[in-house]
Amino acid sequence: MENTPTHTVPLDLRKIRKHIPLLDSKVNGSPLVYFDNAATTQKPLELIEAINTYYQFHNANIHRGAHYLANLATGEFEQTRTDMAAWLNAAESAEIIFTSGTTESINLVAQCWGHAFLQQGDEILVSTTEHHSNIVPWQMAAERSGAALKVIPIDDNGLWDLSTLDTLISSRTKMLAIQQVSNALGTIQPIDKVIAEAKKVGACVLIDGAQAIGHFKVDVQALDCDFYTFSAHKMYGPTGVGVLYGKRQWLDAMPPYKGGGEMIKTVSFEKTTYNVLPHKFEAGTPDIAGVIALNAALGYMRDLGMEAIAAQEEKLRSKMDRVLHAIDGIRIYGDTTYKVPIFSFNIDGIHPYDLGTLLDKQGVAVRTGHHCTEPLWTRLQAPGTVRASLAMYNTEEEIDLFVMALQKAIHMLR
Ligand code: PMP
Repeated sequence: MENTPTHTVPLDLRKIRKHIPLLDSKVNGSPLVYFDNAATTQKPLELIEAINTYYQFHNANIHRGAHYLANLATGEFEQTRTDMAAWLNAAESAEIIFTSGTTESINLVAQCWGHAFLQQGDEILVSTTEHHSNIVPWQMAAERSGAALKVIPIDDNGLWDLSTLDTLISSRTKMLAIQQVSNALGTIQPIDKVIAEAKKVGACVLIDGAQAIGHFKVDVQALDCDFYTFSAHKMYGPTGVGVLYGKRQWLDAMPPYKGGGEMIKTVSFEKTTYNVLPHKFEAGTPDIAGVIALNAALGYMRDLGMEAIAAQEEKLRSKMDRVLHAIDGIRIYGDTTYKVPIFSFNIDGIHPYDLGTLLDKQGVAVRTGHHCTEPLWTRLQAPGTVRASLAMYNTEEEIDLFVMALQKAIHMLR
């Protein structure tokens, strides 16, 4: 994982932005400044064309027919699996399961792994900064099994406080489920250290990579995680598609998730046997176009280069950090330099929702609220925040427009 690479060819932003037509639109009469990339990234033509091509020229159901189109579609679908396995450095492509998104990937593990391996007296460890989708499925698994949920605390800035880690991780810890990057704060979490401690007691490790995958290269074997989850739509890909990476030893030992076509080997009314990996966890017709388009998104990032993407984002992070700190009465949460360009803040005496509304009137798209991390804001005693989240295609000029719009909104609300 590299946040500040040194030798890279800079991205050609003019060319990149030409291929993402939506970035050139106007909102409320002003040029769009899209700073809501943590919610979802905009889509390049390369991805849109992959979806069009599938439906126009290759449409067929996969893994079933013996005809030309079925084989073509199956080949493209499976190519995504092969390429994704290589991208993540998985040991084999059967360890890549396609889901509908991060949320489904985590629910799959919480249900199936939880069913097989959790029991009364066990502990599941999450952190205070987790997205609801990496809290609630574990609460449900804990309720079913009688296991207890433990939480890594944070300091007043929103950074993980690891000073009590040795009391939080013990032989009772069976699952460590933590994020690599905070969607609310942008902070890159010190997961290596926590994973190492969890491994010492033989705990299973799930990483929520939803906010990491679009920002830097991920190597699941180097991380030594057992599961890694993310959504295609946060890496320039389509909505409705996600990935679950899982080590074979766990996936083989887990019961299936959903029953139906494709996930079976044989079916009779007396007994059904289940298919091999990865099909055991992929019941029914998947989002074929979406999975094929995910490979277009992967190719898009590979062609740009993750180091070049990270270098551009570091430039944006650094400028945002500077301009935001210069604003009177601002409180930035997760205020550190080791982060992706996601900034959560409040301005003294102004409700985040009012700021967001006035920014929207000036063409600036940000998100306001709790960002699906309610326990985090309860701990930090904030009603939620304004969150500006940037991606590699954003420009320094857009940051200038954003700051002007923010100053104007503050002036109007004071
Ligand atoms: N985890 C994190 C850290 C996220 O940012 C998100 C999306 N905001 C999710 C999980 C859930 O992703 P999805 O809604 O695509 O399933």
